Amino acid sequence: MKRAKRIKKDEKVLRKFIKVYCENNHLKKGAEEYKDGYCKECYELLNYALERLYRCPLDPKPQCKHCKVHCYKPKMRQKIKEIMRYSGIYFIKHGRLDWVFHYFF
Ligand code: SF4
Ligand SMILES: [Zn+2]
Repeated sequence: MKRAKRIKKDEKVLRKFIKVYCENNHLKKGAEEYKDGYCKECYELLNYALERLYRCPLDPKPQCKHCKVHCYKPKMRQKIKEIMRYSGIYFIKHGRLDWVFHYFF
């Protein structure tokens, strides 16, 4: 997959995965929406992840889970891993295997 195309797809998956996690674990449990359907914490995490993605020094970019560089701060990596796990299961149940195959943490 070409780099630009890959980044676009990663971006879409990040947005979807973080959103569904936030909806079910934060917003539905009373957290306040901060922006674009995310709570503050998830919105910040999304932006952090997007920034990492755009600035990824590797070309071709591997899936982050196979990456030796691991440019995420440990705390952020922990959060995104938890989100990917949760939303991966959610999307399997909802028939979006195409996204789940792409899931990268
Ligand atoms: S973890 Fe690795 S592959 Fe993922 S964005 Fe960072 S440097 Fe790139
Ligand atoms: Zn949230």
